[in-house]
Amino acid sequence: MQRQPDKRRIVPKAGRVTERAPTLPEQVLHDAHFLITAARWAQLPTEGMPEIAFAGRSNAGKSSAINALTRRARLAFASKTPGRTRHINFFRLRSGALLADLPGYGYAEVPGSVRRDWQQFLARYLAERASLVGLVVVMDARHPITELDQQTLDWMLPARFPVHILLAKSDKLSRPEQSRTLKQVSYALEKNHAGKDLSVQLFSAVKREGIAEACAVIASWLDGAKKKGPGVKGSDTGPKNALRSVR
Ligand code: GDP
Repeated sequence: MQRQPDKRRIVPKAGRVTERAPTLPEQVLHDAHFLITAARWAQLPTEGMPEIAFAGRSNAGKSSAINALTRRARLAFASKTPGRTRHINFFRLRSGALLADLPGYGYAEVPGSVRRDWQQFLARYLAERASLVGLVVVMDARHPITELDQQTLDWMLPARFPVHILLAKSDKLSRPEQSRTLKQVSYALEKNHAGKDLSVQLFSAVKREGIAEACAVIASWLDGAKKKGPGVKGSDTGPKNALRSVR
């Protein structure tokens, strides 16, 4: 008599399958490698693959967040080399998608004319870069939405792509402070940017907290771009709500 397949062995236990699947959202930024650094429009890499940009005030924790998400200890620190602070550093992901590390804003020592040139380049990048499908903005959870963050958000948020905010260094807050901060920031964003495709979460590179949530958002952007095909402006698959607290 033929043996019946053991159903208990082929029916996976809840939660196990996704843990082992090769396409985990957490892996979406793994195997990133440095591609190119660009200070002018002509130096930007050829478009075609979807691109995710990271922005944040200097010292907010952006480099640490990129390193934690890509699991590469020193990947983003190239951006901190003197002279490279006004460049966009591009990294290529395993999927071929690009990660663009925008320079930290708030460098007061930059002379006015240089800053203006740089801002024009950045404004054009955010407005015209067709392959840009989402922007991650990193803020320090202890001082979220500083005046400079607010100005930058006002400037960036007519965006044609979704924006996801990481409240970084959340390990420096107690649990009650974390949930209070998340609520306050969500409320402020809802009030000032209603109707925008915005989401926010707590994040700690040191404690590696919030990584799965951030990767899930980024994976959904890249997935949406893949479905739409190359060179398409924006993504319509980001968080649908005007504001979503991921944590
Ligand atoms: P960037 O200028 O935005 O790229 O910021 P960095 O990633 O270089 O971080 C600025 C400082 O904050 C450094 O001293 C980091 O070690 C520290 N930092 C970054 N992320 C975290 C975090 O998650 N927790 C803690 N406690 N410190 C962090």
